Amino acid sequence: MINAPRGTNDILPPESAKWNYIESKAKYIFDLYNYDEIRTPIFEYTELFQRGIGEATDIVEKEMYTFEDKSGRSLTLRPEGTASVVRSFLENKIYGQAQPTKYFYIGPMFRYERPQAGRYRQFYQLGVEVFGTQDPMVDAEVIAVGMRYMDILGLKDLQLYINSIGCPECRPQYLENLTEYLKENKEDLCNDCKNRIDKNPLRVLDCKNKSCQTVIKNAPKITEHLCEECETHFNSLQKNLKSINIEYKIDPTLVRGLDYYTKTAFEVKYEGLGAQDTIFGGGRYDKLADEIGSKDIPGIGFALGIERLLLTLDKQEIEIPIDKSIDIYLTTIGKKAKISCFELLEEFRKKGIKAEIDYQDRSVGGQMKSADRMNATYTVIIGENELESGKATVRNMKNGEEQEIKLESIVESIEKMI
Ligand code: ATP
Ligand code: MG
Repeated sequence: MINAPRGTNDILPPESAKWNYIESKAKYIFDLYNYDEIRTPIFEYTELFQRGIGEATDIVEKEMYTFEDKSGRSLTLRPEGTASVVRSFLENKIYGQAQPTKYFYIGPMFRYERPQAGRYRQFYQLGVEVFGTQDPMVDAEVIAVGMRYMDILGLKDLQLYINSIGCPECRPQYLENLTEYLKENKEDLCNDCKNRIDKNPLRVLDCKNKSCQTVIKNAPKITEHLCEECETHFNSLQKNLKSINIEYKIDPTLVRGLDYYTKTAFEVKYEGLGAQDTIFGGGRYDKLADEIGSKDIPGIGFALGIERLLLTLDKQEIEIPIDKSIDIYLTTIGKKAKISCFELLEEFRKKGIKAEIDYQDRSVGGQMKSADRMNATYTVIIGENELESGKATVRNMKNGEEQEIKLESIVESIEKMI
């Protein structure tokens, strides 16, 4: 017996219907906000993620599925969506069209992490990216897309945290102050963070370790070191969020794990999820297109973990409406009836009527049980007698009413009844 690889999941019915439901709601919201779908490859050249995510990040340091193909190129299964979307935007010269460009994506991502609740090696993200505008109103729109999505799914008690992590103007000075402070407090940091001080000090702010947390609490705050441009942007974002009644908290330690972020960073959490409590997160990445393709194009987006979203729906006991039923079940008696019902079955389906038949040679009683299991609205029993008389009795399974119908026009009759 061969099992699925560690950290992967099979999505089986009826669970798969829940996935379809939340994906269709997401597509509804994306369309409402005028975002178009983009589909990029599931693997890319490794360099794209090294450059686009940053060498000193957990993802690039230890979480990538990297392999050589038969001609010795280094490829990597995408660990996130943004780098690929930016790569595609540049490669296809979409910047030559009217801006902004608003995209969404849905698909699997791959990270070599220790599997646990809400953390898998193949998981699914949906997300949006907007290119070509610096307008802080767009930062608010991107957050609104995510929050409205949470709303229409019926989720409550979520917390939106926002921060500004500055830009190449103001961040270096802040990083200097932070590094100095971290060095002074090095003894109280975990080993990972000790290493981060010189490589990527911002990442220390993200550490969940208890003693690091105490150090982080008193660390210099980036929001107190913003340049005028970043501060104005951050203030406008807040005004815009307020104007559309989106509640938020400022968290000056919110930094996100990725190097390319500038200005706005945000996360939406649900406390009830426990250790992995972030449903979606994102931010502005005005330096990413330059990093990947030497083009100065601002961008902003978020990525949402679909498994965590489903966990949240579960925790909040939100029922997902799954319509699992068929319109008509054709119960057959004898081989001859089965053959003509097989033809009939296809006639129903051509008319968009969801019909089913028995393929296991069950008894009439067994077939009626199947009809029940499939939640059939109508059943009809067809045997030699019915074929001869050209008439059959259709039973409404919801109210028990029966009706005699001519076989030659049964498809039209059922069409009228449903
Ligand atoms: P975390 O701090 O939980 O590891 P992250 O910062 O690595 O999250 P992002 O790269 O921002 O996560 O990805 C966006 C979202 O994707 C997360 O908020 C989460 O919902 C989901 N996600 C990330 N990694 C995984 C994973 N290994 N399994 C399932 N979902 C994940
Ligand atoms: Mg992670």
